Amino acid sequence: MRKFIVSIDQGTTSSRAILFDLKGKPVFVSQLEFTQYFPKDGWVEHNPEEIWSTTQIVLKKVIQKSKSLKGKILTIGITNQRETTILWDKHTGKAVYNAIVWQDRRAVEYCNKLIKQKKETLIYNKTGLLIDAYFSATKIKWIIDNVPKAKQLIKQKRLLFGTVDCFLLWRLTRGTNHFTDATNASRTMLFNIATNKWDKQILDILKIPSHILPEVKDSSDDFGHTDPKITGESYSVTGMVGDQQSATIGQCCFESGSLKSTYGTGAFVLLNTGNKIIYSKNRLLTTIGYRINGKTTYALEGSIFIAGAGVQWLRDKIKFLKKAADSEKIIKKLKDNHGVYLVPAFTGLGTPYWNAKSRGVLSGLTRDTGISEIVRATVESVGYQTYDLFEAMKNDGLRPKIVRVDGGMVKNNWFSQFLSDIINIKVLRPKVDETTALGAAFMAGLKIGVYKSLNDISKNWSLDKKFSPKLKNKDRRKLIFGWQKAIKRTLIT
Ligand code: ADP
Repeated sequence: MRKFIVSIDQGTTSSRAILFDLKGKPVFVSQLEFTQYFPKDGWVEHNPEEIWSTTQIVLKKVIQKSKSLKGKILTIGITNQRETTILWDKHTGKAVYNAIVWQDRRAVEYCNKLIKQKKETLIYNKTGLLIDAYFSATKIKWIIDNVPKAKQLIKQKRLLFGTVDCFLLWRLTRGTNHFTDATNASRTMLFNIATNKWDKQILDILKIPSHILPEVKDSSDDFGHTDPKITGESYSVTGMVGDQQSATIGQCCFESGSLKSTYGTGAFVLLNTGNKIIYSKNRLLTTIGYRINGKTTYALEGSIFIAGAGVQWLRDKIKFLKKAADSEKIIKKLKDNHGVYLVPAFTGLGTPYWNAKSRGVLSGLTRDTGISEIVRATVESVGYQTYDLFEAMKNDGLRPKIVRVDGGMVKNNWFSQFLSDIINIKVLRPKVDETTALGAAFMAGLKIGVYKSLNDISKNWSLDKKFSPKLKNKDRRKLIFGWQKAIKRTLIT
């Protein structure tokens, strides 16, 4: 009989369930998109019922498929869009407000207030995070302050908070298990990453009652069993991990110094720093990479807001491309970039600039500039932004030993080679590109003994293509110099 592990990958735009064989190969994928709500400028919401219903449907499809393959599902892992916040009534199971999505900016003013009150250092030292509306804490605060039902339920000790992993587990176990894992907890801005506990002092500052918070478990742990009324039979849930950490696990970045970079809409870079908490002087976030057997592995995280989204912009707004993949053919026709640079600061700049006000700049235009140069500048910009992020790490005394990449954009071979040239490090692309879902499956399998150790898990990683730096130092320096000039122009606001 074939044996499988199911990974539920609840993402920002869709819910997916994936059936993996025990070697980590995806056998079947079911996916459903759901509605994005934008009630006001800068606000982004999801309906928790839609998150739940789409997850249930894809999960059921995958269970059916396992049966038609005459296989057995050994266990389930969950990975999720991080920071997205749901508060619900533990008696009725109903959310008191829509899920406030990680991208939502409504709590900016409150964050500014905390910064004015000089809480930045305290919060950074405890949580590893820079105060930002992105994290769950101020989203919880907003719901408590603005939704009367939430206040009323707090008085009755009936209100529960969870990120999406926690909410799904609570629903899958029919309201019995209110658990999250350490990686998700570390993105709330309420969790002390050194003590591995919810932080009382921060909770007091934000006036968030501790009784609404879930119990924090390891990423590979016993999370309970699904209710057979929901899943037909009961399955154990033994892995839970936030999406970027899950991709790091899916890429088997278990050694200190190994790094994964995911190039989707934006890009997320995580560097494993082992059992050390490293505080960055260059605005990288410190976070929990995973926690196994009570032992925490830490990571440094950086983000680039616009990666593949730049290519999307070329396709959908500027209409230079029919499909994203056409970018490769167009770029290849050019010998060099003709001095054209695009800084895609469409929504500000992320690590290490963290400049919310800057906007995009296209520079170095001549009468000769055409579509190809602008397409090339857009794709190149993702390489340069990664260079800036790596420089920030270098200034913190860290140089990644291994760089593994994934996400839609790395299918572009030209981009992957350019990236290696600019950061001057080998770039490895794996065969399985479902790394995010795979990480949760690995964590789930580890708990039930399918894998004996992280080393054992690593044996399942296999290389699709290696990109080695080929560019001469002189040429690299010239390109980077041009980028730095363009960045200076962008930062004038
Ligand atoms: P997400 O998970 O954020 O939706 P994906 O990992 O699916 O993103 O990647 C999709 C992104 O990758 C899109 O923004 C798209 O523009 C970009 N992309 C896909 N294929 C290519 C390609 N061949 N060259 C450049 N960009 C690409």
